[in-house]
Formats: sequence, C-alpha cells, structure tokens
Amino acid sequence: MKRILVTGGAGFLGSHLCERLLKEGYEVLCVDNFYTGRRSNIRSFIKDPMFEVTRHDVCFPLYVEVDEIYNLACPASPIHYQFDPVQTTKTSVHGAINMLGLAKRIKAKIFQASTSEVYGDPQVHPQPESYWGNVNPVGFRSCYDEGKRCAETLFFDYHRQHKLKIKVARIFNTYGPRMHPNDGRVVSNFIMQALQGKPITVYGDGSQTRSFCYVDDMINAFIKFMSSPEDFTGPVNLGNPGEFTILELAEKVIKLTRSKSKIVFNPLPHDDPTQRQPDITLAKKTLKWQPKVKLEDGLKETISYFKKVKLDP
Ligand code: NAD
Ligand code: UDP
Repeated sequence: MKRILVTGGAGFLGSHLCERLLKEGYEVLCVDNFYTGRRSNIRSFIKDPMFEVTRHDVCFPLYVEVDEIYNLACPASPIHYQFDPVQTTKTSVHGAINMLGLAKRIKAKIFQASTSEVYGDPQVHPQPESYWGNVNPVGFRSCYDEGKRCAETLFFDYHRQHKLKIKVARIFNTYGPRMHPNDGRVVSNFIMQALQGKPITVYGDGSQTRSFCYVDDMINAFIKFMSSPEDFTGPVNLGNPGEFTILELAEKVIKLTRSKSKIVFNPLPHDDPTQRQPDITLAKKTLKWQPKVKLEDGLKETISYFKKVKLDP
C-alpha cells in the first residue's frame, strides 16, 4: 500500500486532498506548520488510523519514508503571503529544495502546487503553458510569483539532473468549503461579507477577471495528474476556463445569499492581474480531465459551508 506525504495538508486544498487519498485507501502523512492551515480542516479524518499529522516547517529538512509527495505547503492568499514575504519565498524555494531532496533520497514521485501567478499580469489571453509570463520581480506579489517560478525551475532541474519523477501543476483560482473565512481571497471575502450584511469590497472598478474552479474538480485533476504516464511532467494548467469579472462575482454572491449588502469600491492592490483564464487544452488531452462544477453550483456549496462556519467559528 502506498504512503503519501501531503505538505500543507491542513490547508484548504491540502485537507481535501488528504481526505480523498484516505478514501482511495492510501496511508497519508500530513505535514503542516499551521501558518494558514487549521486543525478543523482535518478534524473529520484526524482519527483515521491511516492518517498521521506532523507539525513541521518545510523550510527545514524532513526525513520520512513515503512513495509519493504532494508539495502544497505555501500560503496562497495575497494577504497571507504578503504578510511575511521573506518567509513566503523561503517556503517556496527552500521548501521545494527540501522536498525535492527528500524525493531524490527515497526515489518518490513528487507533485508541485504551482500557480497561475507564474504568468503574472498576462499579456497573452487565455494563458497556455507555453507562455512565459509577465511578472514584476520586485513588487508586492513577487515573493509568491517568483518563489513559485523558482520552485518550477528547481523541479525541472532535479528532473533533468537527477531523473526525478515530477508533476508540476499550475493551479488557477480555486474555491470551496474549508477556505479560511478571514483568508482574504475574493470568494471567501464576498461570501462572508454577504452573510454578515457587510459591504462587499470590490477592489478597483471590478472589471478585472478571474476563472474560478471548484475544489472537487481540482482534486480530481491532482489525482489524475499524479497517476498519468511518467513522461508527462507538466507544467500543466489546472483550472476552470469560465471567466468572470470580479463585479459579476460580487453580484452572483449577493443574489445567491439573498443579501442586502451593497457593493463598495476600494483601491486596487499593487500588481493585481487584470485578466486570468486558463487554456486547459493540454489537461483535457493528456489527463482526460475538465472541470464539471458550474460557478453557481460551487458557490451554493461554499455558501452553505460558510453559514455553518459563521455559527461555529
Ligand atoms: P492554504 O493557505 O489554505 O494552505 C497552505 C497550507 O500550507 C496551510 O495549511 C499552511 O499552514 C501550510 N504552510 C504554509 N507554509 C508552510 C511551511 N513553511 N511549512 C509547512 N506548511 C506550511 O492555501 P491553499 O489554497 O490550500 O493552497 C495550497 C497550495 O496550492 C499552495 O502551494 C498554493 O500556492 C497553491 N495554489 C492554490 C491556489 C488556490 O486558488 N487555492 C491557486 C494557485 C496555487
Ligand atoms: N478582490 C476584491 N475584493 C476582495 C478580495 C479580492 O475585489 O475583497 C479582487 C482582487 O483584487 C483580485 C481578485 O479579486 O482582482 C482575486 O483576488 P484573490 O485575492 O482571491 O486572488 P488573486 O487571483 O488576486 O491571487
């Protein structure tokens, strides 16, 4: 039976991945420093005898024996990754070096949670994997963007130099239950604001676009990618190509929550990308995968989760 390491396993995506791997009969080791992760995310399966959790920072070496590694450790929300930018770069770069070193020693296959942020503020739309991006190397988002870009470099150099089996996924905006209510990302912010009758904070004029993928679709893609043929390393875009302006998202959330909240316009954060939409041709072809959950349906699930969180903080 396979033992699988999930770094960042107590976070939003990591906890869904751990749960899914347990359901498929794997033994799961979750490693997390609980910077943005929460015990409540793993509460429903923490007592599963096949599950183990260790508090550990991936910036430091880790010695465990596993068959596969999913490297998800890294804060994903701009507010959290910009709070301690030096730590964000360390987590991305030192974390990648440590997990790749581990994979090399134990000959494990390793998955990297990369990001659409490697495309920066893209001038090619939608973004295919062949696009090299438009990233500010010295801005407020650079700790994350450049950290993740350097991690991709490390993955491909370990692959070429040490013949490591790698899987590099470029994840586009993903949402769903278990996002932190104070996470600062747009879906959680808007839903919490709408449920609490607070103003919905649209940054800028709300004309910037994002493409939102529901978490279950994303986890399906992770699993398919990890078990895809060895010579398929990625990078591969994973996301939902449905593109919406942030203003459209605000209006949808207000409608679905039947909220009386009003939209307010706040300043646009530094280097906020103006548009983002994945070209998923490669994922469709090689993984036989495409997202199934429509934005309205995913939002309904997420809203009912946040309603419970509101009562039980
Ligand atoms: P999250 O913040 O909910 O989860 C990240 C997890 O990593 C948390 O549990 C956190 O405590 C842990 N962590 C952070 N630094 C660590 C360290 N140094 N050592 C050990 N653990 C550490 O975010 P998420 O949305 O679940 O994102 C998971 C991964 O997917 C991240 O690598 C992120 O960059 C990537 N990603 C996510 C999205 C998205 O929309 N959710 C988009 C692109 C990429
Ligand atoms: N955003 C917003 N209001 C909020 C939070 C975010 O208008 O309360 C905008 C943000 O400026 C960006 C988009 O929503 O244009 C997505 O932001 P998020 O932080 O979720 O992720 P990003 O894709 O920017 O990393």
